[in-house]
Amino acid sequence: MSPTAKSTKPVKKNGRRKRRYMTMNAYTNAMLQFDQAVEVLGLTPDQVAMIKDPRKIIQVSLPIRMDDGSIRVFQAYRVQHSIVRGPAKGGVRFHPKVTLDEVKALAFWMTMKCSVVNVPFGGGKGGIIVDPRTLSLGELERLSRRYFAALAQDIGPDQDVPAPDVNTNPQVMAWFMDTYSMRHGAHTPAVVTGKPLEIGGSRGRDIATAQGTVYCLVEAAKHLDMNLEGATVAIQGFGNAGANSAELLRKKGARIVAISDITGAYYNKKGIDIKAAVEWKADHDVILTDFETTGKAEKMDNPMDLLELPVDILIPAALENQVTEENAGRVQAKIIAEAANGPLTPAADQILNKNGTFVIPDILCNAGGVTVSYFEWVQNRMGFYWPKRKVTEELHWFMLKGFKSTLKASLKHDVPMRVAAFVVAIERLTKAAELRGLYM
Ligand code: GLU
Repeated sequence: MSPTAKSTKPVKKNGRRKRRYMTMNAYTNAMLQFDQAVEVLGLTPDQVAMIKDPRKIIQVSLPIRMDDGSIRVFQAYRVQHSIVRGPAKGGVRFHPKVTLDEVKALAFWMTMKCSVVNVPFGGGKGGIIVDPRTLSLGELERLSRRYFAALAQDIGPDQDVPAPDVNTNPQVMAWFMDTYSMRHGAHTPAVVTGKPLEIGGSRGRDIATAQGTVYCLVEAAKHLDMNLEGATVAIQGFGNAGANSAELLRKKGARIVAISDITGAYYNKKGIDIKAAVEWKADHDVILTDFETTGKAEKMDNPMDLLELPVDILIPAALENQVTEENAGRVQAKIIAEAANGPLTPAADQILNKNGTFVIPDILCNAGGVTVSYFEWVQNRMGFYWPKRKVTEELHWFMLKGFKSTLKASLKHDVPMRVAAFVVAIERLTKAAELRGLYM
């Protein structure tokens, strides 16, 4: 089923078919999460109205000249959910299953993410409906530039600052930055983050999401009295967040027993040689095709079974809606660290909470990426670049503060970490919205 598809199958519980319907619509799920936190905080309808809905939704059609001379038109979006605490901020994904509701949900989560770690940005997200693997490099460049040109009026260092997300990378950010700078006749690196180092990227941005996830895991392990050294880990997704989390956790002495990507899931009870997997991926078109032929892991029959392995830590680092009402009851991990955005549905959350799983929610767990994006934006505006040591130190501090405020709110209100993270984020947003008041 597609990540955003709706299922209207009645949910079977205790042998009886109940008239409850589960939703796989990311935006509906995001709004359910929001409402839960609003209830804890007891916000007024006016307070909710000030922060809930996206401020601007942009939809564009992008005609591109393909290599064979034909013209293809791609649909694309940019949603600016919030500009209350600063410019809109968030990545752009290239994926065939992008939908407007998905982008709206992701933009909303960016607002919450920036607020929970207290970086001075609002939230935004963009997406192009495309499978980038079907495009040549030239076609990809033309599509990236055309997208940025189409958004030119609405983006800028003080308006909206895009970044990488699923299937976009520093090269795409370089094209974005160049397109904007050429149009404006001014070198403007702060219009986008996640750029290559050579043209204004920040040291440490490449591993920032994973680094933030690992900082959260260290704190969660402390809280739960678990030892990360020797802990077993399963990771779904072997892109930027998944692969770097694997490598950083291996360095901490954890044993990564399973990894996966679009080619399937790979398992080794004794621990997968992560360096070998990273090298294999680099040599095989950036995917793990036939990794089992190395003898370093066996291929699992069903990649979704990775989520149900008897491990200490599960890291979903791919797409939305992976743990649902259907499989949540079979998850055995003690900690789930959401390196992806929206990998658990609210119905799954309920089951996991009941079973005592400690979930580090996405808006906190993967906030390391946008935090170092903030450092990149700051460095671009200063024209002065930090050593890696400073980036790492500052990131650690921001993540620690985010984790501690969330844990404190969780204990204070007696709610799970996800609700607590939303509570922290929404409190800050509401305060900012009230201080600013209405323009007219
Ligand atoms: N796409 C990343 C995220 O979902 C990073 C966003 C950014 O750096 O602005 O958090």
